[in-house]
Amino acid sequence: MEIRPLKKEEYTDCVHLLNQAFEEKYITLEQLEKEFLKNTLFYGAFEKLELIGCVGLLQKSEESYKIVRLAVHPNYQHKGYGEKLIAHAENMAILNGGNKISLGFLVPNESLKNWYLNLGYQIEKIKKYKNSEQSICFAKKELPKTPPYKGLNKRVPCCSQCGFPEKICICKIHPKLATGNKFVIIMHPEEIGRVTNTGRLIKNAFPNNTEVFYWHRTTVSPKLKKTLKNNDYHKILVFPPDREEYGHRAVSRDLVKEIRKDKNIMFIILDGTWKEARKILKKSSYLEDIQMLHLDIDFKTEYYLRRNKDLGHICTAEVAIELLKLVGEIETAHELHKYFQSFLLRYDQGRRM
Ligand SMILES: [Zn+2]
Repeated sequence: MEIRPLKKEEYTDCVHLLNQAFEEKYITLEQLEKEFLKNTLFYGAFEKLELIGCVGLLQKSEESYKIVRLAVHPNYQHKGYGEKLIAHAENMAILNGGNKISLGFLVPNESLKNWYLNLGYQIEKIKKYKNSEQSICFAKKELPKTPPYKGLNKRVPCCSQCGFPEKICICKIHPKLATGNKFVIIMHPEEIGRVTNTGRLIKNAFPNNTEVFYWHRTTVSPKLKKTLKNNDYHKILVFPPDREEYGHRAVSRDLVKEIRKDKNIMFIILDGTWKEARKILKKSSYLEDIQMLHLDIDFKTEYYLRRNKDLGHICTAEVAIELLKLVGEIETAHELHKYFQSFLLRYDQGRRM
């Protein structure tokens, strides 16, 4: 099954699906199009090429979202699709900066109510319809800061915060480090929930000096824009200026050392595979004027979790270690390195449990 944004030409199928899942004439194409224009994002669940479920996500305020139009085709109900659609909508809300999500459903319907309670929703209020036996029940849920990680090992219970087996979970070994500089991590959505991701180690180790943003192809978080406008820091994007159009933006290692003498540095790191990082750079106009640093690594990476993927490159945590060394924070770099090595060791142990 695949869940992805619905294309405009698929709206007719979506209307058909909603009318089959609920009673006939539940919604018209005009109504759905109107909701789309009001900033509701519609996602479809596809089995092979057939649309079998849908969910809408409406932004109510900067931090709160509402789930609307959740439906699963009658032939596919009670098979876990609804749960997956809800999880997808929640993750999309988290990635767009949401911390609260709400929804409404018709009652009395005890099994539906219990289904939502099991998914972590709390009943807020019940509103009675005029001239009807039915009422609408409103429920809400607080969202975590990051989407849950998939477990590293199916044989043992895993921590939802980090994905590692609970017995050797990395949440317990975060070092508490500080730096005068700042790390801004722009994470490709494919990295989300990947247990092998190391960009998160930087955030874990430097909670007060790191900001993580999830990259989106068409929108940019207002908070990221604001962060990039902060002139307390000298901004440097860690990416090789390997194309002619980047030439004038290149900054050397020596120059970074000089800059650091006068000003704290905001290091902007693109977190993803080489290909994903390049895509972020190409499609994000807000990164256009920032100086670029090539780390020019002359050692082999210790990171072996994604073999053959980024030959000759170091992983995101190793980038931060190198940057700290570059600005003379050797002891801190050493501490982060030790944490990174424990992460690798525990990953290995976790897989073999
Ligand atoms: Zn954990």
